[in-house]
Order: sequence, then C-alpha cells, then structure tokens
Amino acid sequence: MHDKTMTELAAGLHAGTFSSRELTRHYLERIARHNPSLNAFITVAAESALAAASQADQALAAGTAGPLTGIPIAHKDIFCTAGLRTSCGSRMLDRFIAPYDATVVERLAAAGAVVLGKTNMDEFAMGSSNETSWYGPVKNPWDQTRVPGGSSGGSAAAVAARLCAAATGTDTGGSIRQPAALCGITGIKPTYGRCSRWGMIAFASSLDQAGPMARTAADAALLLQAMAGFDPRDSTSLDTPVPDYAAGLDADLSGLRIGLPKEYFGAGLDERIGAGIQAALCEYERLGARVVEISLPNSALSVPVYYVVAPAECSSNLARFDGVRYGHRCENPQDLEDLYKRSRAEGFGAEVQRRIMIGTYVLSAGYYDAYYLKAQKGRHLIADDFRRAFEQVDVIMGPTSPTTAFPIGAKMDDPVAMYLNDIYTIAANLAGLPGISIPVAAVDGMPVGLQIIGNYFDEGRLLNVAHRLQRETEWHLGVPQGFEI
Ligand code: GLN
Repeated sequence: MHDKTMTELAAGLHAGTFSSRELTRHYLERIARHNPSLNAFITVAAESALAAASQADQALAAGTAGPLTGIPIAHKDIFCTAGLRTSCGSRMLDRFIAPYDATVVERLAAAGAVVLGKTNMDEFAMGSSNETSWYGPVKNPWDQTRVPGGSSGGSAAAVAARLCAAATGTDTGGSIRQPAALCGITGIKPTYGRCSRWGMIAFASSLDQAGPMARTAADAALLLQAMAGFDPRDSTSLDTPVPDYAAGLDADLSGLRIGLPKEYFGAGLDERIGAGIQAALCEYERLGARVVEISLPNSALSVPVYYVVAPAECSSNLARFDGVRYGHRCENPQDLEDLYKRSRAEGFGAEVQRRIMIGTYVLSAGYYDAYYLKAQKGRHLIADDFRRAFEQVDVIMGPTSPTTAFPIGAKMDDPVAMYLNDIYTIAANLAGLPGISIPVAAVDGMPVGLQIIGNYFDEGRLLNVAHRLQRETEWHLGVPQGFEI
C-alpha cells in the first residue's frame, strides 16, 4: 500500500480495497521497522491514529468521506497538537503538551486525515540539516550517512521512506524546499499569509509559512487545499479565495514564460546539478514553454539580509521561553535571574543561542540602524527584483540547493557554510513569494531538486507546472533502496 500516492490511496479507500485501519496499521508497522535507524519521528501516536482511522472508516462507509479521509500523514513537531507532545526539536519543550491544535492541524483533521505522529526537525526550525535537533540527527533514506536537509528533515525523510503518505512542513528560509530536494520529494512553500500560522511555534514571524511535503505535486495540491485559507486568529492571514488546485493541475503549458536568473547558475553550484536543471528546462520547452534569461541583481544580499532579520525576530519570539510560563525550568533556582539564565542555557542548544545573541545585538539601540534597518532596506530591494522579473515571466526556475545531501557532521562546525545551503531558497521568503521543489535528476544516486518560484498567490500555477513535468518524467517515483517493501 505504501507504494501508492495519496491520490491512489484515496481511490483504494473509497473503493473499499483496504480500510483506513489497515492502511494506518501498515504505516505504523513501517515506522516501527524503519524509524529506529532514520530517526524521522520524535513522537508516534499509534493509539490516536487508529482511533481516527476507525472514524474515517465510518465516514467512508457512510459516504461522507472527502479526498483526505483516512489518509495517514505526519506533522512537523512545530505544529501544536492538543494532547500530543509538541517539542519543536528542543529540550526546552521536551515535555510540552499544547492545550489546542494549530489551525493547519485542525483543518487537516476536519478533512479526515489520520495523524501518525510528529516528525523530527532542527531545533526551533533553525538549521539546514536536522542536526540541531535535541532528539539527534535524521538520516537521509537515500544514504544514511547523509543529512536529509532541514529544518523539516523528519517530514522529508518520512515521506521519502514511505513511513507516511505525506507530511506538513514549515519554511522560513527554505525548510520545506531544501529537505524536499535533498530527499527527492515534492514540497511547496505557499505565499506568506496563505496558510495560518496560528498554533505554529514562531521562529521568524514575517517569514514563517506552513506547507505540504508529499510524493507528487498532485498530492501536494490535495493537502494544500485543506491547509490554505483565511484564519481570523492569525493577523497576517490573507482573506483571498483558495482556488481548486486539483482542477488546475493539467492545464497546458504552451506559452509559459520561464525566467532563469543568471545569478542562480554561478560559482558555488555543483555543475552536475546545473546539468540536471538544464535537462528539466529542455523538457519544459518540449511542453511549449519559453525560457528567458532574467536578472535578480540583489540575489547576493539574500543570505546576509536573512541572517539579520531571522535572528532579530527569533530573539524576540523566543523571549517567551523563560522557565516561568513554558517549557524547561532549571532545578533549584537561587533567584529570578538565575531561573531565567539557567533555564534558557539548559533548554536551548548552541545554534538557537547563537541566533538569539545575533538577534539581540542587531536590535540593540547602538546597532539597530547599522544592521536591522539596513537589512529591511535590503529586503525591499530583493522584493523589487522579483516584482520586475514577474513583469516579464510567469515563473522563475533554478536549483533548490547548491549541492545534494552532504555527510552528517560535514558542516556542523562551520555555521556560514551551513547558512549558504539556503542561498537559492531564502529570497522567496524575504519577498513572501511561493516556491516549490520537485525532484528532476540524481547525482551519484542522490536526488536533485528544481525550484520553481511563482508570483503572489500563484500556488495553483506552481502545482500545475510541477505536475506537468511529473506526467512526463519518473524522478518523483524513485524509492530509496531498502524502503521498497
Ligand atoms: N536553514 C535556514 C535557517 O537555518 C532556514 C530554516 C527554515 O526555513 N526554518 O534559518
């Protein structure tokens, strides 16, 4: 059953070929068998999953089921789940049980999806390799000596290894797209404001966005349909109608204008990845698209701007973890200051502490103008580059990541090398634009992702463009060795 896409699973459930309980048991058995080596799940919720599956089977029998009813999925452990631990990959929240469901969790449950558990992630979503998790690194199912990417690495590895039909992720600077690329799956970061952030533990509030991670664009469309939409509880949620994503998947691509930013193909990109991207572009030309060279002249600003803005916002968001209201509290505090200091020093890992210190520094009275204000200006320049580009083209394509999955441990001592992994993904977050990554090639057996960036609210087009390539090619069908059965 795990060889089927969500679309096929839904057909099997509706036809009565198998029940949701059978399907859920099957995935739970796979998790029990493979998770000890992959470490993709932090929490497995067997009991509640089977109870939800029974309810789904009743809905299927009663004829009230929708396209997601009875489909087993997983949530990144950044989404609050009532009654089920939400750790955010941190010792700080190791024993935190939220009293409510995040909007995204609530909507997927209302659509009938079954939650198998919560997936591993970089601590507070800060990282590109899943190595900053308090629960240990996740292994890439294509080569278990390598990272799965991050921060949604647990979700990406779980989907690639067929431990769930699909999963949720979040993307602040690339955390859906980069792990999707490194694990050979499909991941879409919607327009900022498309999916509610309510109940999603905040990292950098002006950049964070939830999105689906799935095997195919068609599956991602089904999930996004349920996740997206206005939420009055999130003040940055946008009240615009959500189109029917599945209905638009097969639209013809003739005349599609694809922009290729010359800045995305320079030094630092593995040439073999460049060749894989070129092959995908040829396929798009065959489908009737036209490739146009464009320029995003301020691309080089993305990483430095992001590493001022994101830490600034994180230093403010993470101030709430003070040992009083949430999470870890140190033993025998001497006084209030000791309580704050030791609770935070024990609860947060090295990368989170580094970001809080950078963020506090760039926001401090003496340095605000020199760093934070300047970064905000840079952010405008980056958004303006895209605005101009979208006057000329419909979508922008390029690599998702400059390299394929790297060995575990390779970049942990060099934060800047780690930060450069997101060089192609960060700009979309700074501008608030949607982006999708789909597998289009392999280098030495490791998957390569194509990134497609769209204009605001053009998720439907991204899914359509991705789906049309997946109709013609088989990269998305590959199963990592050892996970076929
Ligand atoms: N890797 C980037 C970072 O460490 C992006 C993470 C994310 O998108 N959550 O901040």
